[in-house]
Amino acid sequence: MLGIQKPSNNMNTDEFKKYAQELTKWISNYYENIRSYPVKSKAEPREIFNQLPSEIPLEGEPFENILEDFENIILKGITHWQHPRFFAYFPANTSFPSILGEYLTSALGIQAMMWLTSPSATELEEKVVHWLRDAMGISKEFTGIIQDTASTSTLVAILTAREKASNFEINENGFGKQHRYTIYCSKEAHSSIEKAVKIAGIGRNNLRKIDVDENFAMSVPKLEKAITDDLTNGFTPICIVGALGTTGSTAVDPLKEIGEIAKKYNIWYHIDGAMVGLALLLPEFQYLTKGINYADSFVFNPHKWLFTNFDCSIYFVKNPELLKDTFSITPSYLRTDFDEIVNNYRDWGIQLGRRFRALKLWFVLRYFGLREIQAKLRKHLEFAKKLKEQILSDSRFEVLAPVNFTTICFRFSNSKLNEQELDQINKKLLEEINASGFAFLSHTTLNGKFVLRFSIGQTNTEWDDVLQTWHFIQKQANKLENYEAKK
Ligand SMILES: *Cc1c(COP(=O)(O)O)cnc(C)c1O
Repeated sequence: MLGIQKPSNNMNTDEFKKYAQELTKWISNYYENIRSYPVKSKAEPREIFNQLPSEIPLEGEPFENILEDFENIILKGITHWQHPRFFAYFPANTSFPSILGEYLTSALGIQAMMWLTSPSATELEEKVVHWLRDAMGISKEFTGIIQDTASTSTLVAILTAREKASNFEINENGFGKQHRYTIYCSKEAHSSIEKAVKIAGIGRNNLRKIDVDENFAMSVPKLEKAITDDLTNGFTPICIVGALGTTGSTAVDPLKEIGEIAKKYNIWYHIDGAMVGLALLLPEFQYLTKGINYADSFVFNPHKWLFTNFDCSIYFVKNPELLKDTFSITPSYLRTDFDEIVNNYRDWGIQLGRRFRALKLWFVLRYFGLREIQAKLRKHLEFAKKLKEQILSDSRFEVLAPVNFTTICFRFSNSKLNEQELDQINKKLLEEINASGFAFLSHTTLNGKFVLRFSIGQTNTEWDDVLQTWHFIQKQANKLENYEAKK
């Protein structure tokens, strides 16, 4: 058999160049024609899975074939998050500078677990995090780190709060009977908090979900009452999570007042600003820093509203020593002088291996500059204001929460229908909009009512996308009304 080996399928640099150019062309065409795709994938459950071979290919295949299947199979099962009429959930936006930065990250293929494994990754990370801190006008007491997601950041906060409260005993010996901990957030807070409470071993029953006021913000008197009740009953309150923009309606908890409570009872104060935290890049929202500066930690996601592709979440923390004491597997006495000068981010969180996420963020921040970023954010905020006016000018619709940022909670309404019928008709309306492929919205529940959520934030969304979608919603509502009338 010697001498008749099949040539290996290693892609050489000439081929790489050729395919990279093809892909760049593909991506450019995709973005030029993105409005022609159905926003939400129309794939049926298992449709994609069943079209793929049941076994791994034994022999390598030509790149052309892979690309062809990407176009013919995979693309059908893609929901187009970068479609300018993607208004569901919160955005996970991106931009060309971010895509190019990510391209380089994958080419370098580094693992940034510690300073030594790529000094630039660690030092650029520290730099961009501090740039953002200062641009947001929050206290210079904060330093920070890039995590994958807000969920991870919140888990890190809760684990640190737990270890601080137990004097690092749970890390050593596990939970004892004496560790009866409680955590607080509002009823509107994100599910990632409950998940973190479960993972951290605190127990879901020890998460106190505090009532909200008419604006869906946490009630501070009820928070304090819950804390004093727990203290009376032998619990130790260890963490309060404040919301800077709830996912349902972007409500903002009274961050400063909560901060005073946290201080009074010596409780870790974490602020979840996953989407709305980015608004602090605008001076008109920096009054919010008064509350944020009370916090021990604060998270927001550039992968939501800073034109940086998923994943990229910034976790600010005032005392990184507590973080290191919680997560480092190198005890303090084994740390060297060298470690005092540079950061080893593996010791600042859960994972050992870390992606070089700072590069794409640096590309974005430098390419646009703060002014252009601010202009983009203001544009989205302006669209939300104008859309709210449009909705209010149609008497068949109502807006059900304050429009604090770029998310509008609204529903079709009709005094002849009861609440149950209204839920049904709004569910139907949402289904019709999303099945059309024209736009993609999601929903939430506010005061028990089924509510449509229109969330603006994709990088290339223009007013016309918002307005056309609104007109489309009105048209669908007309159809449903006629149908109801005929029943
Ligand atoms: C989106 C969101 C999260 C979760 O973000 P991930 O980065 O996906 O974990 C947490 N909190 C709030 C308020 C959010 O809007």
